[in-house]
Amino acid sequence: MTRIREIQAKSILRKAKRVDSWFASAAGMNLYRGCAHDCAYCDGRAERYRVEGEFGREVAVKVNAPEILGRELDPRRKRKPLKRAFVLIGGGVGDAYQPAEERYRLARAALGLIERHGYPVHVLTKSSLVERDFDVLARIAARSRAIVSVSLSGTDEELSRVFEPGCTPPSRRLEILARARDRGLSTGVYLMPVIPLVTDTDEALGATLDGIAGAGADFVMFGGMTLKPGRQTEHFLTVLAERFPDLAPRYAAIYSGDRWGRARRDYYQELEQRFGQAAKRRGLARRIPLRLLAGVLGENELVTVALESLEYLCQLDRRPAPYGRAARAVAALDVPISTYRGRYQELAGVGRFTAKLIEEVLETQACAFHEEML
Ligand code: SF4
Repeated sequence: MTRIREIQAKSILRKAKRVDSWFASAAGMNLYRGCAHDCAYCDGRAERYRVEGEFGREVAVKVNAPEILGRELDPRRKRKPLKRAFVLIGGGVGDAYQPAEERYRLARAALGLIERHGYPVHVLTKSSLVERDFDVLARIAARSRAIVSVSLSGTDEELSRVFEPGCTPPSRRLEILARARDRGLSTGVYLMPVIPLVTDTDEALGATLDGIAGAGADFVMFGGMTLKPGRQTEHFLTVLAERFPDLAPRYAAIYSGDRWGRARRDYYQELEQRFGQAAKRRGLARRIPLRLLAGVLGENELVTVALESLEYLCQLDRRPAPYGRAARAVAALDVPISTYRGRYQELAGVGRFTAKLIEEVLETQACAFHEEML
């Protein structure tokens, strides 16, 4: 039984200085603090996020979220407009579609405001409750764009019951994507976190990617698991030891107690390479395709995402990847990048080839090299 606490939030939108290539977003929100989905690996448990109460059993509901968000999204009340990118609903310290949403309908209210102000939206969830709001999402998609993404650690139902006890089963999460597509929505899968020694084996990874390919997702993004010292690690290792008593001691060789909870670099790199190859074999796009962003992102934002994605994709395929510096330079501009037409190479990190890519993205809202690398 989840204990609910109603709280008043001072602000809702979390704005970033630049658009990120993970979600093509520069603003997101947590409507709840704490999450009844109770995933064993959730880093919302880590002390640094200051989620009060027993994580997984207590949830704080920001009951005034619609009122605050309405003010924050209203362009008449802003000195500086929001960047032209997706508004993200989901992730962080509580799923927007966890069970409390059935009663409080905060995500639905947020979508209504996003629709009213004409923003594109990207929703990330592990719950089938999102289907309730496909009507609003479809209206947003008709006007700008809406992406519905689900996150998965794998597709094994029994493992999901152990590690994600409150979530919609993985097969059902994938089914949502087909229905989303029928409503004109774009769809993605965030394969994160992949659980070391549990869902990271070739067999498990292959089965998961087969499921994602079968679901027809527009893209799949990969992320490894972090384990921050303290509550998060203690809880995860307790759950792991109950189901796999032999595995817990082997985690010491993967996680060194880094304060950000990162696993060893060589572990992530090896896993990421295997993911990269396995996803490519199945024809899955490993970053958000630019066609989903064209006409939605501002020009600086689209070029930033394209270059940042290329940096990642080239690294994944062990090719030279000189695009990160250029992406940062474009993201830092406070004038439209098109004002640099004909002299893109004046920007830090932009050589002749990158200048051509920028030109192509600006002229066509697409990039053949990005498409090839996906
Ligand atoms: S659904 Fe997301 S926020 Fe909720 S417990 Fe799982 S990982 Fe954490």
